[in-house]
Amino acid sequence: MPARIRPSILLRIVGAAAVALVAVALVAGVALHLVVGGSAGAGAPGPRPGVDGTSPTALSGRKVVLDPGHNGGNGAAAGSINRRVPAGGFDKECDTVGAETDSGYPEHAFTFDVAGRAAAILRSRGASVILTRDNDSGVGPCIDERARIGNRTSADAVVSIHADGGPADGRGFHVIAPALSPDRANAPILAPSARLAAMVRSAFGRATGQPLADYLGEDGMTIRSDLGGLNLSRVPKVFLECGNMRNRTDAAELADPAWRARAAAGLVDGITSFLLGDEASSPGPG
Ligand SMILES: [Zn+2]
Repeated sequence: MPARIRPSILLRIVGAAAVALVAVALVAGVALHLVVGGSAGAGAPGPRPGVDGTSPTALSGRKVVLDPGHNGGNGAAAGSINRRVPAGGFDKECDTVGAETDSGYPEHAFTFDVAGRAAAILRSRGASVILTRDNDSGVGPCIDERARIGNRTSADAVVSIHADGGPADGRGFHVIAPALSPDRANAPILAPSARLAAMVRSAFGRATGQPLADYLGEDGMTIRSDLGGLNLSRVPKVFLECGNMRNRTDAAELADPAWRARAAAGLVDGITSFLLGDEASSPGPG
């Protein structure tokens, strides 16, 4: 004999079912979170789970300054680039000519090419990007002005792009992070810059297959207080030395446009990880 269920009991049954459903969803959600988070594990922290770092809005509102080292006109402007400028507790030359490969591919052309490629990728992810120079035929700017561009912009991250002129038998890339400058004024940027350095190092190595430098530093990293560009920065900043122009194997890569495309992509992935990870760990806007 069918019993008629009173509306109040029905309500309680529906209520209990809803509570059970929410509990199941919560457990499933936590499990999913663990799975996604776990896959991003291994090594340096990547973008937050569920965040697509390559989406057109991934880096909206973020400001990045890219500093292509040296300039094409420096070689013919010794007077300008040798004058001394403040470098964070001491004076240093305005700029230098830069390195070149044995076959004559100059560092300034390399850095300008990679910076342009990286800027395009960053913009495709919504970032606003400023380059410290907009051509490869001028002189400078000096190292202090390059640093000021990042500071004036209140950039979230700055990367100076270089290629080294090391010993012919040494190869590989390295990242330079700031040490405390002689005037001690860059103290606030040391910790975030170290995070940026670690993320650029792992993403760049992954994208290019380029080994860590075997002729200087430790694990592809040096910490320096003699570079005006790092001493004068008040925003997170690192130098990336993409390879050794004087090493035959590295030089062949640096001169290859397809390799430079991978180099730019790796650099951008490192910056993206830094910016998204930074956002996740900060207390919020403001
Ligand atoms: Zn350089």
